[in-house]
Amino acid sequence: MSTEKSKIKIRIRKNDKVKVIAGKDKGKIGKVLDVYPDKHRILVENANIVKRHTRPSAQNKQGGIVEGEAAINWSNVMLVCNKCMSPVRIKMHQLEDGKRVRICRKCNEIIDAS
Ligand SMILES: [Zn+2]
Repeated sequence: MSTEKSKIKIRIRKNDKVKVIAGKDKGKIGKVLDVYPDKHRILVENANIVKRHTRPSAQNKQGGIVEGEAAINWSNVMLVCNKCMSPVRIKMHQLEDGKRVRICRKCNEIIDAS
């Protein structure tokens, strides 16, 4: 991993809408289920579905194969702006109350939902 890359901060948060821009699920849009900042990986709904072999457990008495999302590198996704309905670049902006929000570079709309 290059030092250049590790300097970049993750600006994607849980429940964001993102588009996969690289890899086998390129083009898919999904909700961010989880973010792992120290690994530079995120879990995206319906992206990078992998089959896992599981042992019998309380939830799944037979065990076998289950399908689920696996985390992907966060650089393989882009945040989707709800107004532009497309992947956009974002910039940070500080509001008058000091709160930092993410803004769409295209339409200048605040992306943070809450
Ligand atoms: Zn926008």
